[in-house]
Amino acid sequence: MAQPWRGVIPEYREWMPFGSDVAAVTLGEGGTPLVHSAWLSEIVRGDVFVKVEGDNPTGSFKDRGMTTAISVAVAQGAKAVVCASTGNTSASMTAYAARAGLTPIVLVPHGRIAAGKMAQAVMHGADIIQVRGNFDDCLDLSRGLAKEYPVALVNSVNPMRIEGQKTASFEIVDVLGRAPDLHVLPVGNAGNITAYWKGFVEYHEAGVAPSRPKMWGFQAAGSAPIVLGRVVPDPDTVATAIRIGNPASWTLAENARDESGGRIDSVTDEQILAAQRQLGAHEGIFVEPASAAGVAGLLAAAEAGQVEPGLTITITVTGHGLKDIDTPMSRVGSIVDTAIDADVDAAAEAAGLR
Ligand SMILES: *Cc1c(COP(=O)(O)O)cnc(C)c1O
Repeated sequence: MAQPWRGVIPEYREWMPFGSDVAAVTLGEGGTPLVHSAWLSEIVRGDVFVKVEGDNPTGSFKDRGMTTAISVAVAQGAKAVVCASTGNTSASMTAYAARAGLTPIVLVPHGRIAAGKMAQAVMHGADIIQVRGNFDDCLDLSRGLAKEYPVALVNSVNPMRIEGQKTASFEIVDVLGRAPDLHVLPVGNAGNITAYWKGFVEYHEAGVAPSRPKMWGFQAAGSAPIVLGRVVPDPDTVATAIRIGNPASWTLAENARDESGGRIDSVTDEQILAAQRQLGAHEGIFVEPASAAGVAGLLAAAEAGQVEPGLTITITVTGHGLKDIDTPMSRVGSIVDTAIDADVDAAAEAAGLR
């Protein structure tokens, strides 16, 4: 019988900067599907694969970095952990903290946080503190708490987060048998683009992959500090997971872009929501709004004639659509298309079968 997937630390332990003394706190994260998209492949006249990170235990890629951050925090004797979050970091942190018996402290910005994500943190038993400020204020606060009190900070400024998240690149290369020509993903606090690039570079340097991809990152137009080259004090977008005006890994994201010969651009909320819906309707993959930013970016680039034909392209879709149903459903006029009596002929008529 094939061995079941064991989680990213056991699977990739030799690529981790810590030894066997760190026991894995795991929920079996990683090992997510890499799904070929006939729809996108035809549009770009290449081969497009979607890395479905919503299939992680708490529904986003954050679990990859949380298993490493929490495992190391436990090994170092932490009793409590803190994070600033637009939702998914706290959903993930609280789950792994629950498993490890740590006290989770969550700082969320005032205003929009998707209800599904908050439900996760509540059910995992977190203390949730809402801050009168934005995400960037929450991150400053978390840093301050971790500096002055005995709590471990597990935002992506914690290097262990990056170490766990880089395993997504390993999986892509392991499945494709090579690195893609181009990797596309959303950019918020910019930890993930940093992590993917680190993973691709490590596999390349070790000779596992003969090449490295270009990295294309996409921010939301209302919160695109890297594209604009300046901090955005009041970031605004429906894609709450990337509503970040001053990314912690700003310079590292620029390095990933420049070393790979890639780009970081922005897409509008309209493009994001359209891509979200198209991905759901064409491929059966329901992602949250932020997760569709990469798809929206690739579609826009293809439209502008900026994607050479014949490429192997991978796109990370970062989180599950069920986390935030209010945003897409608020755009759907009426859920019910037709009401009928319980009658076969009437159903066939309504369904356009006759
Ligand atoms: C965290 C997150 C992002 C942004 O990732 P960064 O590492 O902050 O750039 C994008 N999408 C989803 C669903 C996320 O949870």
